[in-house]
Formats: sequence, C-alpha cells, structure tokens
Amino acid sequence: MSRIALVTGGTRGIGRAISERLKSDGFTVAANYGGNDAAAQQCAEELGISCYKFNVGDYEAVGEGIAKIEAELGPVDVVVNNAGITRDAPFHKMSKHQWSEVINVDLDSAFNVTHQVWNGMRERGFGRVINISSINGQKGQFTQANYSAAKAGLIGFTKALAYEGAKKGITTNVVAPGYIDTEMLQAVKPEVLDGIIATIPVGRLGKAEEIASMVSYLASEEAAFINGATMTVNGAQYIAG
Ligand code: NDP
Repeated sequence: MSRIALVTGGTRGIGRAISERLKSDGFTVAANYGGNDAAAQQCAEELGISCYKFNVGDYEAVGEGIAKIEAELGPVDVVVNNAGITRDAPFHKMSKHQWSEVINVDLDSAFNVTHQVWNGMRERGFGRVINISSINGQKGQFTQANYSAAKAGLIGFTKALAYEGAKKGITTNVVAPGYIDTEMLQAVKPEVLDGIIATIPVGRLGKAEEIASMVSYLASEEAAFINGATMTVNGAQYIAG
C-alpha cells in the first residue's frame, strides 16, 4: 500500500511540481487548492491525482477536506504545507486585512492542516510534515512584514513539532525556497524582478522542480534523521547560518 501525501496548494506552481514528484516517488497524492477549479482540473487530468478544494485558512473546512481525503484514499502520512499568498505593501500602508489574510493562509493553515493529521501520525508511528517557508521568512523583505512574519513563524512551528514528533516517527522540516519561477512572481514588477535576479549568485530564478526534489527527499524513509531542519534552496542568494 502506498503512503498518502497531502500537498496544500498542490495544483499550481511549486505545489504542483511537488504533487507530480511525490506521485512519481510512489505516493498516492491528494492535491488541495483554494479556488482555481480550471487549474485543479488540469492538474488532476495531467497528473492523474485527486484534487480537493478547501480553504486552508479555515479549520472547519480543512477538517471536512481531510475527512474526505481519508475516506477516499486513506490516512494521511505526509503533509506538505505549501499553500501561500502574498499581499505586499509597505508597512506604513499595510492594512490589518492584508496582515491577517497572509497570516491566516500562510501560517494558521499549517496549524489547521497538521493538527488534524497529527494524532493519526502518532498512532501509526510515522509522519512527515514539510513546511514551505521562504527566503523572506529567513531574512525579511521590504513590503512583506506580513509574509516575512508568517514564513518565519513556520520555522518556529517546525522546530517545536520536531521535538514533539521525534519519538513517534514523525519528522517536521522546512524548505525555504528563494525566488522560484511561478505565477506568484507575476505580482512582482518586471524591473523589480530583474533587480532580484541580479542578486542571485547563480544568475537565474529557481525551478519548481528544484523545490520538489528537496521535498521528495524529506518525505522519504531515508530522511528519518533530519528533523527540525530548515533546508535553504535559493541559489546562494541568502546563506543562512
Ligand atoms: P502559486 O501562487 O503559484 O500557487 C499557490 C497555490 O496555493 C495554488 O494552488 C492556490 O490554489 C493555493 N492556495 C492559495 N490560497 C489558498 C487557500 N486559502 N486555500 C487553499 N489553497 C490555497 O504559488 P507558488 O507555487 O509560487 O508558491 C507556493 C509556496 O511557496 C507558497 O507558500 C509561497 O509562499 C512559497 N514560496 C514561493 C516562492 C516563489 O518565488 N514562487 C519563493 C518562496 C516561497 P488556487 O490555484 O485555487 O488559487
């Protein structure tokens, strides 16, 4: 029986590449998404995986979504908390709504999802929780007080869960991507993006597949001794200690 992997935001961008990679690794993949039905349908058809629409920021909706996944596919062994949004603004202009939306979707979501599969992982003595943070959670970024706070929060969350899950066969780790070529970057002005690329020593954006391969490793049996780590995948743009 193959293990079940839930990838939030698994129908587009980095998440879709993770879904594809985990499927090719032999997992049965459930890809979650928030609202883009067309992208989800395309993902389901092209990858041959099941897609589930629910808002990761809503604890009740997540519970219903996971219950459906578990009824259709089986208990969730691997969670990739990948769904995320940006709502950029300089702090002096950032609204409470922009703050709260990002904290809800990018940080509360990790609680909402992980909390509802955690006991099952403990009972079965196996689990992999992989949280997708960001270079900007590690170093901060102009106009991203909300996003940087949420993404840094994921790192603290990961460290605490690493201790709590260790004796039960659960590992919890972070992947912190640098700038990756996905639709999320369409929100960044071209001239700003050129400036960003100029600061990446390898001289290019990352590929979604390069994040997926790190997730693949962390999800594997081989990675059992890696727990509480932050895996930086950013082309040397920011070398975290
Ligand atoms: P995309 O915008 O390309 O895709 C985001 C995915 O998340 C979509 O599947 C989207 O669903 C889903 N999603 C958004 N909000 C919700 C919600 N409330 N409930 C459920 N699903 C939701 O993003 P990326 O692939 O670029 O980013 C993926 C992750 O990687 C994010 O956490 C991001 O912060 C992080 N990251 C990205 C970087 C980059 O350069 N791209 C750099 C560093 C980190 P739908 O299709 O329905 O909208």
